[in-house]
Amino acid sequence: NQYGIKEAIDSLGLSPAELGSSTGSTWIKSTGSEISSHSPADGLLIGKVQASDEKTYLQIRETAQTAFKAWRQVPAPKRGDVVRQLGDALREKKEALGKLVSYEMGKSYQEGLGEVQEMIDICDFAVGLSRQLYGLTMHSERPGHRMYEQYHPLGIVGIISAFNFPVAVWAWNTALAWVCGDVAIWKPSEKTPLTAIACQKITAKVFAENDVPEGVSNLVIGDAQIGQLLSADSHVPLVSATGSTRMGKAVGETVGKRLGRALLELGGNNAIIITPNADLDMSLIGAVFGAVGTCGQRCTSTRRLIIHEDIFDEVASKLKSAYAQLKIGNPLDEKNHVGPLIDTLAVDMYEQSIAKAKAEGAKMIVDGEVLTGDDYASGCYVKPAIFEVKNDYEIVQHETFAPILYLIRYKDLDEAIAIQNDVPQGLSSAIMTRDMRESEQFLSYAGSDCGIANVNIGTSGAEIGGAFGGEKETGGGRESGSDAWKVYMRRQTNTINYTNNLPLAQGIKFEF
Ligand code: NAD
Repeated sequence: NQYGIKEAIDSLGLSPAELGSSTGSTWIKSTGSEISSHSPADGLLIGKVQASDEKTYLQIRETAQTAFKAWRQVPAPKRGDVVRQLGDALREKKEALGKLVSYEMGKSYQEGLGEVQEMIDICDFAVGLSRQLYGLTMHSERPGHRMYEQYHPLGIVGIISAFNFPVAVWAWNTALAWVCGDVAIWKPSEKTPLTAIACQKITAKVFAENDVPEGVSNLVIGDAQIGQLLSADSHVPLVSATGSTRMGKAVGETVGKRLGRALLELGGNNAIIITPNADLDMSLIGAVFGAVGTCGQRCTSTRRLIIHEDIFDEVASKLKSAYAQLKIGNPLDEKNHVGPLIDTLAVDMYEQSIAKAKAEGAKMIVDGEVLTGDDYASGCYVKPAIFEVKNDYEIVQHETFAPILYLIRYKDLDEAIAIQNDVPQGLSSAIMTRDMRESEQFLSYAGSDCGIANVNIGTSGAEIGGAFGGEKETGGGRESGSDAWKVYMRRQTNTINYTNNLPLAQGIKFEF
């Protein structure tokens, strides 16, 4: 407990064994299997959680349906005020929740705090939004008519989230969904159930203080099976799913079969183009943080560096010496730069990907290694690796969720942009340059094909104010800021005739 984990867990009101199904303040016992949550930091058992079963899921969904009828009647700014109070409660619990995120997921404590800060920021954003759910008005082609559009609450929003952002993705979705008048059923990753339970407890207290009914914030713990139950449920008009492309294809198909709405936030294969006009010091910081931050387990992690041939050797050698200085170890120790992977399965994937890259002809710049010894007892610690590759290697076309960075040479910017775009994924991208013509070409219609394109900052991370998401196999969804809220609402066009006649549109005559 040298890092204060026990205090954090106590202050979040968690006990070693938790029920994982909840409609708010009510926790429901079910017959689902037991999930044990171990920390990748030290391999120790943090707590046990009971998964939901189908019967419990249906009971929760029915409570959510009833709650929706009440919640949609609460004026949006009042719903916003409840979300404001949730933001305040998160401010109070920021250190404790950030620590638990770090311990259960394995990202650094600083990144854990950053993740909770994102939750607070999206609550603030949603409070303002609650007075700005604007529709347009338009001029009718018929005299004495008025037209406008409005946005109504949609219903139940299903949220399936990944292990790597165990709490922020939930907040990105719920803060908007709740001000939009929706209710939420959250199925978090089975790898990080305790952080989810902590969020539900924080929310339940705020909701109870505001007489928000049970069923507005719901939690179901479980694996892909519960995720499929939620996806197949025709009473859930929107499923927002964050995770691998494999999962997105399965969820997209299930939701698509019933013609529901799916918001998919899937894998990335993000690249930074470093041109001869780049500030190399800045490029290096962006590239190294992007590649090794969160141990390469961000959807926006930098996977590929596309480097001009004239500066390739210099960049490669600077990267090599930067990697030699990286400190790998317990994520709660602020001296360390790199923490563990989520579990030993992820370590296997890391090793297999390196072996595959080498077999395809990758040139080693910094070799990978699984670390052993007392400090690495969980078996989840690996050394960040760098290889020179060709973009068309099969392994380079895949997202490996680990700190493996691929370097690729280019001759001219057209080629660099073509390489950047020539992968199945389309999440985040960046160019490092001080040449305005290069950056504008990169941002133009003929430039990056990603949902996020940056200039002189890396690929990793994003501010909540912008719409977040990507194209192609990243799934096409947008959440968080800008007008992403519209997907959480039901859009309606209204025409009102205030005359004594009924003129038809397009001048059509219909007389009898
Ligand atoms: P994962 O796909 O294994 O699991 C994600 C979630 O989906 C979990 O809750 C899991 O239980 C559920 N799930 C898995 N298969 C399912 C199925 N067939 N039906 C219904 N639910 C199912 O992903 P992970 O390992 O937890 O997370 C890493 C992945 O998430 C990476 O690919 C990463 O790029 C991606 N990710 C994307 C974003 C984004 O915003 N684009 C953000 C974070 C993570």
